[in-house]
Amino acid sequence: MADELYFQTIASLSDRLAEKELSSVELTKAVIARTQAVESQVDAFNSFDAEDALAQAAASDARREAGEILGPLDGIPVGLKDVIAVENQPLTASSKMLADFVSPYDATVTQNLKKAGAVIWGRLNLDEFAMGSSTENSATKKTTNPWDRTCVPGGSSGGSAAAVSAGQAIASLGSDTGGSIRQPAAFCGVVGMKPTYGLVSRYGLIAFASSLDQIGPFAHTVEDAAIMLQSIAGYDVKDSTSYRASIPDYRAELSQRKGPWKLGIPQEYFGEGLDPEVNEAVEKAIAYYREQGCEIKEVSLPHTKYCLDAYYVIATAEASSNLSRYDGIRYGHRSKDAKDVEDMYFKSRGEGFGEEVKRRIMLGTYVLSSGYYDAYYLRAQKVRTLIRQDFIKAYEEVDALITPTAPTPAFKLGAKVDPLALYLCDIYTIGANLAGLPGISLPCGFASSGLPIGLQLIGQPFEEANLLSIAHSYEQAHEWRNSHPHI
Ligand code: GLN
Repeated sequence: MADELYFQTIASLSDRLAEKELSSVELTKAVIARTQAVESQVDAFNSFDAEDALAQAAASDARREAGEILGPLDGIPVGLKDVIAVENQPLTASSKMLADFVSPYDATVTQNLKKAGAVIWGRLNLDEFAMGSSTENSATKKTTNPWDRTCVPGGSSGGSAAAVSAGQAIASLGSDTGGSIRQPAAFCGVVGMKPTYGLVSRYGLIAFASSLDQIGPFAHTVEDAAIMLQSIAGYDVKDSTSYRASIPDYRAELSQRKGPWKLGIPQEYFGEGLDPEVNEAVEKAIAYYREQGCEIKEVSLPHTKYCLDAYYVIATAEASSNLSRYDGIRYGHRSKDAKDVEDMYFKSRGEGFGEEVKRRIMLGTYVLSSGYYDAYYLRAQKVRTLIRQDFIKAYEEVDALITPTAPTPAFKLGAKVDPLALYLCDIYTIGANLAGLPGISLPCGFASSGLPIGLQLIGQPFEEANLLSIAHSYEQAHEWRNSHPHI
């Protein structure tokens, strides 16, 4: 099964395309057929346009025929989380609010993928407006975990992770505000990376919490994640928080940076609530690095215990402000039975937003309201600074940190009805968002249930080349990347 085209890596497929052993149309057809065969089980897609994908693939083949190859992504079908704008394609954020919205323009990352020749393939399901950790908050459908269809794929980028895992896209993009790339990557047994805040443009990404949101790749391997990151990273005049960093050749660096590295084990990430099988898998990964001659040091991030609280104040505050644009007037859902303007705002928002989104808007509005601003929002921002300082201090001694990505493997659909229980899933991923740091999750084994386990590495700001190389070293020495779900 692993020989199937749709489970191949970008690296190997681009070689086969270059050798003309394979055409992009053939590859795209294989991915479309696979999607059609398993989508009724996985439910990863909000929409797809097979005809449009095949036209893009034909254009790629024509370019290749003319000797004009745009790079390793040329002709490769890539899926996008349904919060990333593609011109003239639906863009729903898995919300009733945007059920009929068609984007008039491309996100910068979409433009970049198009420039790299990628075949833009399908809009992938998520928790409504990226708020959640299981994709169960989607107003569209519930995506399942390809390894066990009674389990969640993680979230909020559950569709992006499940589609790659199930062979319905060769790679994909998601967004990560508090873990939404890394956690579903861990649950679905694929690689997922959140870049440093500012490395990738957010222009054309539906905003959730603007000071935390970053777009990043899902792929089968670290090398493929490096190829994807290469095409989307870089300064963008349309995003005022994008950073003018010089972008190394991430893929080439993988074979050049061989360590040994100094790696930190944050003790706060190995405490209560950590599943023993996850702990064991991560301990084995740590042992691997030790055998490679890496110096392994215990470090402390003492403010970790405040991460969730700070995150759920800051993220909801920013969300309440970002989501005020959905007023039923400019675009999005408009209630049909409103009496006057105020009633229209009220009813349009009441009908358009789901429960979790409303909860966050209310929480966010509360923490920003006069009288509470200093007590909650301002204090959370101060705590955020302390959390960042913990990481910066740790990086005086080590190059990167090793942690589990999530405390447990994927849980059952419907198992976490209490919103607080769901918020706790993000305990190991949120710190990197609050501190703006790059993080990657890669497979590091399986639980006895057969579900995949994810290893998280958190790196120094804009040191993605190092982070990818550290991850690549582990991946190359293990066979996890050759396992695929049997669906
Ligand atoms: N699960 C977190 C939340 O619900 C993170 C979501 C995300 O990263 N988009 O906010």
